[in-house]
Amino acid sequence: MIRIQKHGYGGILLPDFDVGLDIDQPDATHIFISHAHADHVPRNRRIPVFATPPTADLMKARGFSGKITLLPFHEPVVLNEKVTVTFYPAGHILGSAMTYLQTPEGNVLYTGDYRTPPSPCTEGFDCPTDVDYFITEATFSLPVYRWKSHDVLFNMIRTFAEDSRASGDVPIFLTYNLGKAQEVMMALEPTGIPVQIHGAGYPLCEIYTRYGMNLGNFSRYNRKTVAEGALITPLSTLDTSMVTSIRKKRIAYCSGWASLESRRSQIIVDKLIPLSDHIDFFELIDLCKKLNPKKVYITHTPNADVVIHYLQQAGLIAESLDIAGNDEA
Ligand SMILES: [Zn+2]
Ligand SMILES: [Zn+2]
Repeated sequence: MIRIQKHGYGGILLPDFDVGLDIDQPDATHIFISHAHADHVPRNRRIPVFATPPTADLMKARGFSGKITLLPFHEPVVLNEKVTVTFYPAGHILGSAMTYLQTPEGNVLYTGDYRTPPSPCTEGFDCPTDVDYFITEATFSLPVYRWKSHDVLFNMIRTFAEDSRASGDVPIFLTYNLGKAQEVMMALEPTGIPVQIHGAGYPLCEIYTRYGMNLGNFSRYNRKTVAEGALITPLSTLDTSMVTSIRKKRIAYCSGWASLESRRSQIIVDKLIPLSDHIDFFELIDLCKKLNPKKVYITHTPNADVVIHYLQQAGLIAESLDIAGNDEA
């Protein structure tokens, strides 16, 4: 049996192998970072970690100053006579990786955040098949979350932008600066509409293009010219002058949470686009069945019980790693 422990707010510790996965403190010799979102990057910015090259660049652009050992996808690193670790593409954001550990006590796969079918704005999704212990996030862990295809969602984004321009409105997309913003840009690329991006998101877009992602015609937010195209900015700027100073506008909110109608009463926008960079509920259950591990460990979930119930019905053994009351979205 391999000891698998939740560590701190979001990380996982495998004490038998001295390995930490997305942990926040230097409590393991070997620490692997799945991707550059803030809830997976150590707040202790001085601890040495392994990351894929794009994740390393994104982490540095967001202020991480620790030592990063670059580990590209599919290149195994031998930690000691017991453990070999390999990153697999997770399909969540650029550089996002699942961590696969091969040990004498069995093979462990830790997903970090992931998406299959993968986001078109990533390196894709690839999963090892020989998994004994599967540690998976379950952010969208209820059967109400069933995503539309990227084709449908990207069309929705383009249509919203083109219709807005046609009526003389500035299309504004409210979404995260890292990951989702670049997906929206990729969706808009064929329209040729110039896109402005929030200042904190702009340097991240340059990293995306350096790794070959086509984000189209984009520039940093400029108050003087923003009305000439589309704007992508985080939800937190909705009530700031960045958005309020644009006189004629139509606002879309892009998020997996947008698939819940109740969201409509909380955020007043013109359109909800349920674009998510996480796996949906049914894809999660299907993947667990396909891998058929000895045990599934659920983390990053508001509804562990529902997932566990469905997995047990499929004949799988499942357990939550989250401490009650310490759940996150
Ligand atoms: Zn993430
Ligand atoms: Zn996360």
